[in-house]
Amino acid sequence: MTSRIYYTDPSCVTFEAIVTRTLVHETRPAAVLDRTAFYPTSGGQPFDTGRLGLVDVVDVVDTGDEVIHVLSAALAEGDRVVGEIDRARRQDHMQQHTGQHLLSAAFDTRFANATVSFHMGSEVSTIDLAGPATSDDIAAAVRDANQIVWENRPVSIRFVSDAEAAGLPLRKEPTRGGQLRLIEVDGFDVSACGGTHVSRTGAIGMIGVLASEKQRSGTRITFVCGGRALKALETYRDAITGCVRTLSVLPPELPSAVERLQLEAKDQRKALSRLQEQLAGFEAERLVNGAIMAGDVRLVASAMDGWDVPGLKALGTAVARHGGVLAIITSAAAPVAIVIARGGGVNVDAGRLLKALTEKFGGRGGGKPELAQGGGLNAAPEDILRAAKELVAGG
Ligand SMILES: [Zn+2]
Repeated sequence: MTSRIYYTDPSCVTFEAIVTRTLVHETRPAAVLDRTAFYPTSGGQPFDTGRLGLVDVVDVVDTGDEVIHVLSAALAEGDRVVGEIDRARRQDHMQQHTGQHLLSAAFDTRFANATVSFHMGSEVSTIDLAGPATSDDIAAAVRDANQIVWENRPVSIRFVSDAEAAGLPLRKEPTRGGQLRLIEVDGFDVSACGGTHVSRTGAIGMIGVLASEKQRSGTRITFVCGGRALKALETYRDAITGCVRTLSVLPPELPSAVERLQLEAKDQRKALSRLQEQLAGFEAERLVNGAIMAGDVRLVASAMDGWDVPGLKALGTAVARHGGVLAIITSAAAPVAIVIARGGGVNVDAGRLLKALTEKFGGRGGGKPELAQGGGLNAAPEDILRAAKELVAGG
């Protein structure tokens, strides 16, 4: 049975201990200590990292009775070691976890919307709420939770029997019996929890919700606390500053500015495609005049600059309208888009020709004997066109 220092003293980040057992954990060396401040992955909170003497602790696993420290190199049984926890990681985890208790309690208190699960990721954390939550609900819960942060209320740890716990206003029914460890945020929340927590709510700094999504009957809330909230603010600031500068608008005007741009781009695509269709007729004329013979096939093989994929298709089709001509039209740059279209009286199978080309140059595509279309071919357009000519000439 490992004595867990973090249960009673989560601020302890250096400690002395004796190696009581060594083992191999999933191919890696590992050790059990008589006492440890290392938090093992459990209750949604990831493990602590750090060192035991000169050896790195790379994972910490809870077996119920023991805490297994997975190590970068083996220790010997009986070794006396000094343990050192990575403080920044621990502090980060404490901010996220106590922040989670406040956020969950806020949803619970204001909307009776219980938290059914908690996951702390390396960038963001999530809670899953049992019921729906509108954006107004979320904003209100976040305000409540942050108010408790700013009041800098004490967070205390105590141990009670399950009988004692039954008489306390626990936010959540405890999932296990026996002695319970309770985390109490003064006047706001009491929860059974084995995690590491800050000693006063002010240390959380700030709780921010980044996203929410509906999930069956519930809601998943993505949030960050403390240092992660600052980092998120900086990330958003940089992104927004870039957009604001490019678009010459104020931050609140960004969504409508982007929407306007999208509409304009859509209109321009439509206009471009109309123009290309008109141009395709003239351009096809010019191309057909320059057709060459490949075997007994009259061939138009050309790489076209400045045409989008629908434009290339319009052009290929316009060429093929001239009977007796096979059109192989590509974009001018790699990865190459390609359209193969055959006019009346031509015997080449466009789909099969395209398949041969994608087998040689990669990319995807397909079609019928009359018309085939592909993209992502990885070679210079002139190489693709040369190979196509050879395939056509070779029959
Ligand atoms: Zn907890």
